[in-house]
Amino acid sequence: MTDHRIKNVVIVGGGTAGWMAAAALSRFLNNGYTKVTLIESEEIGTIGVGEATIPPLISFNAMLGINENEFVAETQATFKLGIEFVDWGRLGDRYFHPFGSYGQDLQGIHFHQLYLREKMAGPVPDIGDWAISAVAAQRGRFARPGRAAQAPLASLRYAFHFDAALYAAFLRRYAERHGVRRTEGRIEHVALRPADGFVESVRLADGRSIDGDLFIDCSGFRGLLIEEALNTGYEDWSRWLPCDRAIAMPCALAGAEPEAFTRATARRSGWQWRIPLQHRVGNGHVYSSGFCSDDEAERTLRDHLEGEPGGDPRLLRFTTGRRSLAWNRNVVALGLAGGFVEPLESTSIHLVQSGIARLIALFPDKRFLAVERDEYNRQMQSLAERVRDFVLLHYKATERSDSDFWRQCAATAIPDSLAERIELFRAKGRIFAEGAELFSTSSWVAVMLGQHIVPDEYEPVVDALDENLVANAMEQMRRAIDQTVERLPSHGEFIAQCRSTL
Ligand code: FAD
Repeated sequence: MTDHRIKNVVIVGGGTAGWMAAAALSRFLNNGYTKVTLIESEEIGTIGVGEATIPPLISFNAMLGINENEFVAETQATFKLGIEFVDWGRLGDRYFHPFGSYGQDLQGIHFHQLYLREKMAGPVPDIGDWAISAVAAQRGRFARPGRAAQAPLASLRYAFHFDAALYAAFLRRYAERHGVRRTEGRIEHVALRPADGFVESVRLADGRSIDGDLFIDCSGFRGLLIEEALNTGYEDWSRWLPCDRAIAMPCALAGAEPEAFTRATARRSGWQWRIPLQHRVGNGHVYSSGFCSDDEAERTLRDHLEGEPGGDPRLLRFTTGRRSLAWNRNVVALGLAGGFVEPLESTSIHLVQSGIARLIALFPDKRFLAVERDEYNRQMQSLAERVRDFVLLHYKATERSDSDFWRQCAATAIPDSLAERIELFRAKGRIFAEGAELFSTSSWVAVMLGQHIVPDEYEPVVDALDENLVANAMEQMRRAIDQTVERLPSHGEFIAQCRSTL
């Protein structure tokens, strides 16, 4: 019988994407016959940004059997409870997109629907008071909920901020321990099989040739295999997502403790991130080159740093969009080689993780069945488009008119998929999760309400619940969150606890 099994996997690139893929494959292809090789070039280097994550990364690390405290110590990580958005809807605005959900649903009715009825009846606190992650973030407190946690602590969700270079190095050690072979060198040529155009091998500058059955392209924006060799094509989303450049520059930590949240502050022609780590703060200004020069962008960033600059500014150029096929022939593109939505909701590393999980679920053999490849591409497309819509919502739902950039964002024609969501929410506050949805109902509610998309009415089913009972239940939920958060250690104390266990 012919043996169709994949024996040789070659990963091209050793940034976050490459080492995440290598670590995961070393764990799942530990079968005695598949060899995994990773090629990277120190001379070319990695992009060096990508410090904020979202909660599913916890399961990626857990799947690898990584000790979370060790990870926190080795990558200088802090905990992230969500994102604070400043000046997005209107100048002077501030809202929080928390991880986890708001309150508790009652009799199958979404909490935010109950909240909307209360809000229409009279003044109510901000909906963030019902999200334990938001309250903990604002008070600088944190604790890992643990398996036995009860409400409301059980609904606290978190992710991490980390040093991307240290995370890649951490995963490299893991992958090499589990049998991945690393090859240093610059790839100069990609050889295609004449019969079908599949990638056969790559040749390094020193003349070595490395062949493989399956190639994973993690070579960054250029897409060395997926684009330069296979001409797959790129779907450009910049008509919707207008930012195309970023200037990144770390600074020293100003306060005594790092905050447990990312801050995204809207600027005249884009927005600025602030990501506190244990040893420094990552900052960057993401902007549209059509509205702002690089010098002006750098000045804006420097003017708003909240600590001593800790390095030279780095300019990064990108085009938002996605590779037309994430999997083409025997090449699967992960990370920036597969596309880039833009960093506003910290989704890129998650898309890498999802790509790896789906590749493992649909792992091919040497016949490369079209049905498996097509399913992979369909799922990745759907996921990326949902993420795009969610990020685009932040730009579209603005009432700012103080710059050409924001006026253009407000006037942008958006995809039908997003227009329908906004319309449904505006009517009766409804959000429906569909397909490969990454962001939860609470996430959509946070941004819609935070940026002044307020429903005209609430769902009629809410009226089946007694108003006083609901008001009491809501007050109890709010008090329970308040009291629970008061008992948590400070974020800094919790990090120190993590480190002390090692
Ligand atoms: P890279 O880091 O660029 O790695 C490419 C690798 O390919 C390198 O090892 C390089 O040496 C190698 N290579 C390239 N060409 C060759 C060759 N010819 N021969 C040999 N090797 C080669 N994501 C998040 O999840 N959260 C964030 O907060 C976030 N912020 C971001 C901010 C900005 C401004 C940008 C641009 C991106 C951000 N991202 C973020 C995305 C994140 O940085 C990437 O998804 C992540 O770093 C993965 O990058 P990569 O591994 O695909 O590419």
